[in-house]
Amino acid sequence: MDINPPDFVMSVQPYAPGKPIEELKREYGIADVIKLASNENPLGPSPLAVQAMQEAVAALHRYPDGSGYYLVKKLADILKVAPANIVLGNGSDEIIGMLGRALLRAGDEVIMNDPSFSMYAIMARLSEAVPVSVPLTSLAVDLDRIKAAVTPRTRMIFLTNPHNPTGSALTDDQLESFLRDIPANVLVVVDEAYAEFAGEGCCADSRRFFDNQRLLVTLRTFSKAYGLAGLRVGYGIMPEELAGFLNRVRQPFNVNSLAQAAALAALDDNEFLALTRQMVRQGLDYLTASLEEMGIACFPTQANFLLIDVKTDADQIFEKLLEQGVIVRSMVSYGYPDYLRITAGLPLENERFVEALRKVLS
Ligand SMILES: *Cc1c(COP(=O)(O)O)cnc(C)c1O
Repeated sequence: MDINPPDFVMSVQPYAPGKPIEELKREYGIADVIKLASNENPLGPSPLAVQAMQEAVAALHRYPDGSGYYLVKKLADILKVAPANIVLGNGSDEIIGMLGRALLRAGDEVIMNDPSFSMYAIMARLSEAVPVSVPLTSLAVDLDRIKAAVTPRTRMIFLTNPHNPTGSALTDDQLESFLRDIPANVLVVVDEAYAEFAGEGCCADSRRFFDNQRLLVTLRTFSKAYGLAGLRVGYGIMPEELAGFLNRVRQPFNVNSLAQAAALAALDDNEFLALTRQMVRQGLDYLTASLEEMGIACFPTQANFLLIDVKTDADQIFEKLLEQGVIVRSMVSYGYPDYLRITAGLPLENERFVEALRKVLS
């Protein structure tokens, strides 16, 4: 076949999804597989969200509300911004894609950390823009290095805060002085997918620096703390004028009606959010203590996952853990050959992981 796609399509590797849990159970003959690999909420979806979806099912013959009217209004009320400052996405992933489509021209530079969330580079390449990778310093985002990478072609900068995959976080002071130093024509996107897990005062809240005249976007998601990863809903907070451009490239029904109903209800589920935070904090404490007892270094984290140094080929440990029915994330493809990333799970899941790792390393 003579398909001949453009070079920018050829420059992107398709996302390699993990095997479904059901398939692993069959393959390894293990009834009880646990997944601590994708930073999902092990408590399940918010119960209020589940109830709202059950009620919304009856109206599935209708198209979704293309403006996300009620969800946008509620978010605007909570965030004390105007509804016109909020853009909903089919996951915050989709907002990253919309930013690329709406703003980037061929040859524009997009600065991001390496390692960081792979979507940023994919989005840049699909717009024929140039992803510019800035290394971390001691696993933390180094704002001076990012500033030094800015050129006249820089159009966008992505910060992940707390950072994935390291869990490190920038403070309000650091972010504030960074924003002061960045040229006014460069869009700064702060991806706060894990913000709900950060300790009090430990992590900048970029929403504090919102200004309808400043090129700053905060990305938030319902995928992690609210337990709704499978529904795909996230949002961006941004100047009204920028939101207007995103709405030109946004598909009219990008957020489905169940997702809108669930997200709306999840915002009221403070009990679930508190329970989630408590479980994550206790899980991370348990994991850190148990692993350090085994002589394994854990890096400080403000997210719901932990980066650990197994001091040997992480892919191999990953495979052996899989044989024990425990799925984690190897960091080899992120450039950390000896590191694993572990999502905090339920107490029994964390215990199983620690036991499996002990067995694998002995
Ligand atoms: C999980 C995650 C997201 C969330 O993406 P959704 O599309 O909203 O599910 C965004 N950014 C980072 C860095 C993440 O790890």
